[in-house]
Amino acid sequence: MRVVCFARSSRALGGTLSLNLRFRYRFEAAHRFTSAAAPSCRTPHGHTWYATALFKLSAGGLDSAEMAAEFGSVKRGWKSFITETADHSFFHNAKDPLVSHLNDIIPDARLLEFPGDPTTEMIAALFALKLKAMHDITGISTVTPLGVKIQETPTNSVTFRFEPDGTAPLWLTKKIGTTKSWWTSPDPLARS
Ligand SMILES: [Zn+2]
Repeated sequence: MRVVCFARSSRALGGTLSLNLRFRYRFEAAHRFTSAAAPSCRTPHGHTWYATALFKLSAGGLDSAEMAAEFGSVKRGWKSFITETADHSFFHNAKDPLVSHLNDIIPDARLLEFPGDPTTEMIAALFALKLKAMHDITGISTVTPLGVKIQETPTNSVTFRFEPDGTAPLWLTKKIGTTKSWWTSPDPLARS
């Protein structure tokens, strides 16, 4: 079964879009915030997350087979990144002092480093950059990455969207600079 749905979109979603594609996968992962006031956020804890990759149909419209793109080709990298890298990992701040202890005890721990606390906002933003990095090498031009939605709990979610021209918003560029890491790598299995 195709894990995707088409939805009519609106100008409110960013531009004149006629078709959106969404590819949604579940993963289990832990995180913690070093600078949060609440002990519950500073303590490593897990969530069942849902990560949805959002694409829009490119200007050229559907192909000769009446498809935006072959779904398997579009979602291959995303599925691999979510199920093989994000799943059962610990998302952590690069400056988290816990990590050196964790590495001493579990040298092969499944870690995913963030340039700051791994909030749902930053997970959505960096996962979107990852989606774009993976999509850029597919050669698929009929669809374009729009962004990523991260569902943290049944009631909380964050959606990150690229600017209408496909670039990252200024606030994100200011926050992460030009650092190259897993989110700039087209390899779905990269952790650094
Ligand atoms: Zn949490």
